[in-house]
Amino acid sequence: MTVLVAGAATDTGRVRAANQDAVLVTPTLFAVADGMGGHAAGEVASRLALDTLVAVTAGAAPVTVQTLVHGVQAANEAILEHARLEPHLRGMGTTLCVLALVDVAGEPSLAIANVGDSRVYVLQDGTLVQVTRDHSYVEDLVSMGRLTHEEARSHPQRNILTRALGIEPDVKVDVWQAVPFPGDRYLLCSDGLFNEVDDAVIRRVLMTVSSPQDAADTLVHLANDGGGRDNISVIVVDVTGAATGTRATAAPPVELPDVPAPAPPAVAGLPAPPEVELRSLGDWLPDDVPELDDTAPPGPPPVPVTPPADEEPAQALEPPRSWWRRVVLVAAVLAVLGLAFGAIAWTARGTYTVTIDGDRVVLLRGRSLLWFEPTLEKVYAVDPADLLPDRRESLADGRQVGSVAAADRLVANLVDEAATTATTSTTSTTTATAVTTTIPTTTAPVEPTVPVSVP
Ligand code: MN
Repeated sequence: MTVLVAGAATDTGRVRAANQDAVLVTPTLFAVADGMGGHAAGEVASRLALDTLVAVTAGAAPVTVQTLVHGVQAANEAILEHARLEPHLRGMGTTLCVLALVDVAGEPSLAIANVGDSRVYVLQDGTLVQVTRDHSYVEDLVSMGRLTHEEARSHPQRNILTRALGIEPDVKVDVWQAVPFPGDRYLLCSDGLFNEVDDAVIRRVLMTVSSPQDAADTLVHLANDGGGRDNISVIVVDVTGAATGTRATAAPPVELPDVPAPAPPAVAGLPAPPEVELRSLGDWLPDDVPELDDTAPPGPPPVPVTPPADEEPAQALEPPRSWWRRVVLVAAVLAVLGLAFGAIAWTARGTYTVTIDGDRVVLLRGRSLLWFEPTLEKVYAVDPADLLPDRRESLADGRQVGSVAAADRLVANLVDEAATTATTSTTSTTTATAVTTTIPTTTAPVEPTVPVSVP
């Protein structure tokens, strides 16, 4: 029988005025939530997320992976609903990562669910593996190879989330499943830990401190030593008991593709909602997002100031609520422009054009509309001179397609066609492989003014 033994610690840190993190420890359910929002809203959001999770799982027997996903989505709805009823809490949000003992076809299994940039790690046979993937702007940059993990830890925009609870009515939940193997040790934590303490140090503590509670306390202590610039939450969970599964070597958790979720509410009389992710908004925001300040009039972004030695230095280095303000700005843009914005964005950004730019075949994303300009999405390793002349001419005028995949197919077909026609010439082995992918960064700043009707 699998028994989970846990220790947990949460701390305000050395800079923040309040602890907006929340932790949940029950015999079979463990969670960390990192709340955001001023006027105590962050505390409300993180607590509400955990309470909702407990309520949903308590009503389920047995608890399954689907229960867990439903619990996370119910937490999202609870936060949105609560914010609707309590205007001073409007815009609150939270991350949520969960480890739970669940039932899979009658067998005990571990399930991990995540939204946001809190993390779940597992220590298996001396190797520390990060299970979850952060839903953050810097994580996107890291996965594109534009930033190293080390640079991400101190990046000024490391607090911008691309996914969180309480932002949109629909939330996608990442889920993993793992064999509860005795000896494995799981770590759940908020970013207040991993931004202050290296993975190597985290691993050493998990390897050497046997009591889960002592390990959790030690990690919080080290994060405070490292600066304590954020709230710090840690749960250490040891898997004990007889093995219920077998494995020859370390088997890290397996990601589950799209666990079934309740269908989103349909909106009558409107076209299918455009797929506007918070992530995409980054495309339309200026690189240096001005901070929303409650008191100061709009002006240039604040210039970092070196504080006198006797002040709390980290205050000036990191305005405590700056990351949340950035999320608020994004949420405010969504709220003000709403569907009109989405529809315009979808019209402007949801189209792709394959065309010829000089001696290159390129894929442009979007079209000129209001503040949108097409951006270079891809350059194909295809020489326009190799294409059939009439095809080349029509391509030069621009061929609209609905997706990147459709563009790839179109280019591949054109190349094949030219190669097939040129039977007597030497074989062309050109393939339509993209050599570079450029994610558009900035266009003009978005000014949330008056809603604009869509043509
Ligand atoms: Mn945090």
